[in-house]
Amino acid sequence: MQCKLRNLRSDTQDFSQQEYTMSQFKFVSNRSVKNEKGEETGKIKIFVKADSNKAEGDYKCPECLNEGKINQEFSRPFSVICQKCNFKINLPKLKEEMKKEKNAEKKKRQAEIMEQAKKLAEQG
Ligand SMILES: [Zn+2]
Repeated sequence: MQCKLRNLRSDTQDFSQQEYTMSQFKFVSNRSVKNEKGEETGKIKIFVKADSNKAEGDYKCPECLNEGKINQEFSRPFSVICQKCNFKINLPKLKEEMKKEKNAEKKKRQAEIMEQAKKLAEQG
């Protein structure tokens, strides 16, 4: 019984640690990607750290099944060129991700407005 309780506690701890780690990133995505025939044979996993604009992660090419690392500048729409067959792997969009992105943009705008207001206040 005691042992069970301890296990439960460590699970909760892991979970909160994961939550904490997630907040260190401004973009995280782990998706299946389709080949030319529309079959989900590949995958793409990327993350962008909150303080950088570099996308890191890995991919599996849906065309030739080559697996490689991603380490490039993050831009939207995001795509990776397979190092083996040059197939362009596009990161599919998700409504949820777009919403998240919008929120992030809103926050950024708010921060900008706050910054401007602060400057104005300093001047006046
Ligand atoms: Zn490929």
